[in-house]
Amino acid sequence: MPAATDAPSKPVTATYEGKAKIISPHPTDTTQLCVEFKDDATAFNGKKFAQFNGKGLLNASISATLFTLLHNHGIPTCFVGYGQAPNTLIYQKLAMIPLEVVVRNVALGSVCTRYGLEEGHVLCPPLVEFFYKRDDLNDPLLSDAAITALRLVPPQTTLQHITEAALAANRILTEAFAHIGITCADFKLEFGLNPNNELILADELSPDNFRLRDTATGTILDKDTFRLDEGDLLDRYEQVRDRLNQDSIQALSLPTETFTATVLVTSRKSVLSPQSRTVSQYVGDNTDGCIQQVLANKQFELTVNATHHGEARVIAEKQAKQILSNPVIEDATVTTITQNHEVR
Ligand code: C5P
Repeated sequence: MPAATDAPSKPVTATYEGKAKIISPHPTDTTQLCVEFKDDATAFNGKKFAQFNGKGLLNASISATLFTLLHNHGIPTCFVGYGQAPNTLIYQKLAMIPLEVVVRNVALGSVCTRYGLEEGHVLCPPLVEFFYKRDDLNDPLLSDAAITALRLVPPQTTLQHITEAALAANRILTEAFAHIGITCADFKLEFGLNPNNELILADELSPDNFRLRDTATGTILDKDTFRLDEGDLLDRYEQVRDRLNQDSIQALSLPTETFTATVLVTSRKSVLSPQSRTVSQYVGDNTDGCIQQVLANKQFELTVNATHHGEARVIAEKQAKQILSNPVIEDATVTTITQNHEVR
């Protein structure tokens, strides 16, 4: 049976116009794309529409700043540089994963009606949700089981890895916005795979995809201005761009947090460990052969100080391979990285 969708989706070979961007092949480099940010604003899956002269330019500039910030903190992104027009960015071409990954720190928008939460309810740990990127279905919320059954995540990566990448971005973005007096309530990310099958952050990072509030006044600084008819969209987006353009943002140093890394060490199937062999024999005899084999694996829990999930994973993977396992006869995998949140 074919997968319910081609995941990851095929890379762009012709010009494609979406609601907010026009994506076309790069004229000289087949590994890159030109992404033009439009002045169009849409809401409620295209039911509400308007144009704001200069919005595309603002979103390109804000996205470039935020992609650079994430890159500087070790998060791989699709952003290569500016194109010829100031509302155009150059991206690395990726095979996109058809998921909208929403990270929420503060309950606003759809999560309030879905779970009966009051607007402004703080979500700690942050909530990561997945939506199916299908306009024709109104981008439905997905369970992990549905993502697995529909095979929406390609075999070269995992949902755990995508979740960690989204939370890593959240750590950096929320700190950066806090630094300029803005509360980052939520945002939506999209990811793709590069030709080396590495998970790369893609799409855009602009007030179209974020809920941003001035921390002191509560003023809306994102597309909710348009959704809710609450003020001048261009003025608010300009405020975000200007505050982000402070030099201090790119030099932002993140405080470290503690994370738990779980490392699973397994014997290679061809080299059954003496323990697995003995236990298999014993249990096999004891169950009249019902249990054919027992694999005795090792699990380690590492408490890691790091600035974000991605950094914690790199630190844990190095130790898993060098110290916690014997690479000749064992495989070592970092299965999960979770941030140790204090209960508030
Ligand atoms: O509508 P909802 O509350 O689920 O949106 C959560 C966040 O994801 C908001 O910041 C919104 O702007 C963003 N989003 C998006 N594109 C979508 C759906 C949501 O950028 N298709």
